[in-house]
Amino acid sequence: MILVLLGPPGVGKGTQASRISLHYEIPSISTGAMFRDAIARGTEFGRRIQRYRIDKGEFVPDEVVIDAVRERIHEPDCVKGFLMDGFPRTIPQAETFHRLLAEEKLRLNAVINFSAPIDDIVTRFSGRRVCPVDGSTYHITHQPPLQPGLCDVCGAQLEQRPDDDPVVVKRRLEVYTEKTAPLVEYYQTSGLLRTVDASREPETVFGQVVALLEGWQWHI
Ligand code: AMP
Repeated sequence: MILVLLGPPGVGKGTQASRISLHYEIPSISTGAMFRDAIARGTEFGRRIQRYRIDKGEFVPDEVVIDAVRERIHEPDCVKGFLMDGFPRTIPQAETFHRLLAEEKLRLNAVINFSAPIDDIVTRFSGRRVCPVDGSTYHITHQPPLQPGLCDVCGAQLEQRPDDDPVVVKRRLEVYTEKTAPLVEYYQTSGLLRTVDASREPETVFGQVVALLEGWQWHI
């Protein structure tokens, strides 16, 4: 199964990606997490990514993102499928992704579009916390860790992402509207897109996702 999760930043894609990944036993590939990890580890790739100012909400160029995705989906854990969280984010990325899959005789099975009112999204950003070690995400009220401020998985001190700063959030939402929102229509035309109401509790949203995938007419 190959899935793409679509939706504005802060809508809860990451949380749903982890649940879908566990439930269907496919890896969740987040290009944003890949970039943050490379920057944190100070690799050569990370230093290159840093130049594109993702901390200010700017996009990494399409060709750089595509190269990273091409390499990642060739890893052995992807043989049974995978889900993409935060990719594709532009029409050219979607077109290249389609070609990349076709070269491997693979096809995208479904695109899940997470939608929520803008006020909900802004609230989610302000309460979001991430683990700098394993990337797990929390929300101080909607999805708090067992011990305040500490990761449930590894116990590390949780942090706020630099790009969750309100000024950067505004920029990220602008960039989403300009570059990513057109993908909704793009995938609607191909008949692959289904929209879920992401304003509900994570458990309810996940229920919608599973119901949708179970009822899907698969064209594998
Ligand atoms: P995310 O964790 O998905 O919110 O991504 C964090 C940041 O990484 C984004 O705001 C972008 O700056 C960058 N990024 C992640 N994925 C992509 C992508 N597919 N194309 C361009 N930039 C990306």
